[in-house]
Amino acid sequence: MARHLITSAIPYINGIKHLGNLVGSQLPADLFARYQRARGHEVLFLCATDEHGTPAELAAAKAGKPVAEYCAEMHEVQAKIAEGFRLSFDHFGRSSSEQNQKLTQHFAGQLADNGLIREVSETQIYSNADGRFLPDRYIEGTCPNCGFESARGDQCDNCTKQLDPTDLINPYSTISGSTDLEERETKHLYLRQSEMREKLGEWIDSKHDWPVLTTSIAKKWLNDGDGLQDRGITRDLDWGVPVKKGDEDWPGMEGKVFYVWFDAPVEYIACAQEWVDAGKGEDWARWWRTDKGAEDVTYTQFMGKDNVPFHTLSFPVTIFGSGEPWKLVDYIKSFNYLNYDGGQFSTSRGRGVFMDQALEILPADYWRWWLLSHAPESSDSEFTWENFQSSVNKDLADVLGNFVSRVTKFCRSKFSEAVPEGGDYGPEELALIEDISARVSAYQAHMDAMEVRKSAQELRAIWVAGNEYLQTVAPWSTFKEDPAKAAVQIRLALNLIPLYAVLSAPFIPDASASLLESMNAEGTEWPSDVPAALSALQAGHAFTVPEVTFRKITDDERDEWQEKFAGTRD
Ligand SMILES: [Zn+2]
Repeated sequence: MARHLITSAIPYINGIKHLGNLVGSQLPADLFARYQRARGHEVLFLCATDEHGTPAELAAAKAGKPVAEYCAEMHEVQAKIAEGFRLSFDHFGRSSSEQNQKLTQHFAGQLADNGLIREVSETQIYSNADGRFLPDRYIEGTCPNCGFESARGDQCDNCTKQLDPTDLINPYSTISGSTDLEERETKHLYLRQSEMREKLGEWIDSKHDWPVLTTSIAKKWLNDGDGLQDRGITRDLDWGVPVKKGDEDWPGMEGKVFYVWFDAPVEYIACAQEWVDAGKGEDWARWWRTDKGAEDVTYTQFMGKDNVPFHTLSFPVTIFGSGEPWKLVDYIKSFNYLNYDGGQFSTSRGRGVFMDQALEILPADYWRWWLLSHAPESSDSEFTWENFQSSVNKDLADVLGNFVSRVTKFCRSKFSEAVPEGGDYGPEELALIEDISARVSAYQAHMDAMEVRKSAQELRAIWVAGNEYLQTVAPWSTFKEDPAKAAVQIRLALNLIPLYAVLSAPFIPDASASLLESMNAEGTEWPSDVPAALSALQAGHAFTVPEVTFRKITDDERDEWQEKFAGTRD
């Protein structure tokens, strides 16, 4: 039994994510976790909400709530939606947890002791009325370029010019509206990433099996221009992990917090501690400390391409730099972007389908199948309603659903709701078993390699093989002349249903569970021996004809949804 530690990039707290976010990390991570569990391996699958930073403060202010309360509520909302999509996290944690606070402070202390943190003096805008330094986004004023009156301190939304807060004419605080602002000197901590450039380069060069998307982004950040830069890890904010050196105060850093990018990946580890503290597990260290049992763990991270620099460079600097035996990632599976119907998903403009809305329209399996079978692996991919409709109707309804329906209904009408007896395998049956055996091996190889689209294609081909077999042997014709031959044909076809259910479970877990229930075959295990699996349901085994497994999407629905999600969400 192998041991797999699997993490998905942690979604930011401020709002509900769209389908592009889902397929970029959480969903393929879930596919892999479900597959490894089905193969009998030990899996710890973790995800969490990323809760610190300015955008959370802004979203809470907009909602009129204290930020801690806002985050607690949004965490519950995201957890519920994740459940709706059947994301099988062993724990869905929170980066604002006490465990993460302590561990982040611990890492900072280790990095400081190892000479990897330096202090830098900067000038920043201070608001006397608010009694605090203001992040760029908390300052607005008139754009010097176009005269727009609500330009933000980092960028003008009207003319898109990148700005510094000091560029703004008549700047004011967006918190209080006060214009009593001044430039003040403030100190921040920087992580000396540049010191680790050589070590990171060697480490990334040793990863010959990583996706090119992952290594190319890492090398670009590592080598382009002046190479990897040191990076600020502290902010003048209220909401975040207070800056401490382990358990001790950090002179000069009072009232400051760690920058969200520094504490967020530490939550991968803290999440395992939360998992134990929640009573779901017993020992987090055997997953995370190579001196405490984690040396045989395979650690795989899933993320969108925008997160690759943090996971290939910044977080490894924290891990390497700690000088402690933390488990380092073994494989980084990264994804390109999913676009929406000729453009991009837009959270601010409500363009595209968001996770909550998707579940209001159709069950999770429909979305899971489309998203995974069109995962943006080698390039960006695009969601269109035509493609979604066609894929659901053909793959799920016509191929898988129809196969199940034809076989079980024919059996009920000509034999009974039990596996029929009689007959022996002929050449067609032996050929089908051989074909399915080869395809299951190919499917496993793709799943092992986390080739999501290829896995979906092979799974579909396995479903198609059953349909083609039925077309060829035509039990409805055979039955008239040779009922025993029809019986063996239907017996084999009925046995394909639990096999399909188990193989398909990582993609479409709900349909899989209901098929197994209909076939009275709950507890069916992964088919390590395909010929044996295809004779598991013996003559006389009772089943019930399942309800419609997948329904078709009509043209009217497709048109209605296309219009509904074109971009009006408030
Ligand atoms: Zn402007």
